[in-house]
Amino acid sequence: MSALADAPAHLVTAAFLDKLRSIVGDGNVLAQAEELLVYECDGYVVEKQTPDAVVFPTTTEQVSQIVKLCNAHHIPFVPRGAGTSLAGGCLPIGGGVMLALTRMKQILEVSVRDRYAVVQPGLVNVHLTQRLKGTGYHYAPDPSSQGACTVGGNFATNSGGPHTLKYGVTVNHVLGAEVVLPDGSVVELGGPVEDSPGYDLTGLFVGSEGTLGICTKLYVRLTRDPAAYRTMLGVFETVDDATQAISSIIGAGIVPAALELMDQGIVQALEQAFHFGFPLDAGAVLLIEVDGLEVAVDDEAERITTLCLANMAREVRRAKTAQERQLLWKCRKQAFGAIGRLSPSYCTQDGVVPRTRLPEILRFITDCGLRHNIRIVNVFHAGDGNIHPILLFDERDKEQVERVLKASDEILEKCIDLGGSVTGEHGIGVEKISFMNKLFTPEDLAVMQSIHDCFNPDGQCSPGKMLPTSAGCGNEYVPRKNPGRKASL
Ligand SMILES: Cc1cc2nc3c(=O)[nH]c(=O)nc-3n(C[C@H](O)[C@H](O)[C@H](O)COP(=O)(O)OP(=O)(O)OC[C@H]3O[C@@H](n4cnc5c(N)ncnc54)[C@H](O)[C@@H]3O)c2cc1C
Repeated sequence: MSALADAPAHLVTAAFLDKLRSIVGDGNVLAQAEELLVYECDGYVVEKQTPDAVVFPTTTEQVSQIVKLCNAHHIPFVPRGAGTSLAGGCLPIGGGVMLALTRMKQILEVSVRDRYAVVQPGLVNVHLTQRLKGTGYHYAPDPSSQGACTVGGNFATNSGGPHTLKYGVTVNHVLGAEVVLPDGSVVELGGPVEDSPGYDLTGLFVGSEGTLGICTKLYVRLTRDPAAYRTMLGVFETVDDATQAISSIIGAGIVPAALELMDQGIVQALEQAFHFGFPLDAGAVLLIEVDGLEVAVDDEAERITTLCLANMAREVRRAKTAQERQLLWKCRKQAFGAIGRLSPSYCTQDGVVPRTRLPEILRFITDCGLRHNIRIVNVFHAGDGNIHPILLFDERDKEQVERVLKASDEILEKCIDLGGSVTGEHGIGVEKISFMNKLFTPEDLAVMQSIHDCFNPDGQCSPGKMLPTSAGCGNEYVPRKNPGRKASL
């Protein structure tokens, strides 16, 4: 048994809280039950557990001191950004201390000439691009949650977004990071210049879901704004036609900057909420954007329009002004918000399939929803083959929760069967841990475990995340305090 597994959660005593306050100040520690409730889950609402304390550090030195204090008391700790994880990445398994990085949100440096920025991890993603407005550059990773999620959370989950298709995921835009390791020491990985020698530790830490340490500073790459855009809305009678069109576009060698699908359920919810003027009877719409040189974008837009029409598109609208383009994107980015009109809770799945298998997986999802009597709507980064079926339910109803979990598992299993994977961008978190044994061999997992143990030998930092427990591959099982409950289950 590790020290962590032995550690009773009551070690977070009044004296320990006083020590935390002495590091960060009285106003930066929460420990009242009603305050902690806010932190009992993230965007994955199916599993919940409150931490014993939430602490808001404002400097790297404070993060380091908190981590050392937790270690001295054998108390687990977990970093948290904005809590928009859809995989339960922020769940404080075993209780303990949650380090909320949201008060470390400064833009420390912008060097347009050298094309990098240095930022703190709690910076909201979109605030960096807003700050860069007028410079001719932007920060390319643009998760649909970019108005809320932090760059530190993006770093930890290797986030993607609508423009991932052309511009890549977060790891392609991080040059380096400062990290507080699980023992409290502070290291710099990479830096502002390209191609640091030695092991690519930045690459290793991006996507490690907080299991290798806490990111306290990032060096990110700035991307030049494209000279021109063409943004289109393809309107289709059926989801099948829309997914066939996606295969045709990619198959023709065109790489749009973005290629997003929204099905009828989402379009109707968006219309109810925001009145964008979308056709309510359409089976699906595709939001398609091409960018690049002015001379090239019209030709690409024309070819895409032809391909959509050949795949039974009812019409292909083109945004005529910057305002129209913005409206289309606003609509896509608010799709999740609109779901609040459809049901009290939702579970967003995140699978990947080869793009040519999109029609098949979408048919399977529809069938799965019918079999389990769960309403499922879809909005996803179709160009990457990255599906996001959103399962609507009421978390107060135990039986519905069970059906949602069953349907989710079946969809993810099907993604694997089709040659894909169980996450395109949201990460494994606690939600998908049981799938790791299905995706990787014991040898693969053992290598991952040895990397984990090299940085986080006691498992105090973000316990119970990403790698399976001993039943699967030798990672210590961490008992849950309270215990962690699966919503009403
Ligand atoms: C409406 C909606 C739309 C979304 N759309 C997308 C999308 O298009 N693309 C996409 O990739 N994701 C998307 N997500 C998922 C989520 O927004 C991303 O995973 C995001 O990167 C999480 O950022 P966060 O600041 O909220 O991190 P959190 O949810 O707070 O944390 C996520 C994980 O990162 C760890 N972590 C946080 N900060 C740090 C740090 N400083 N150091 C080390 N570890 C840390 C946490 O422990 C946790 O494991 C969406 C979520 C929602 C709710």
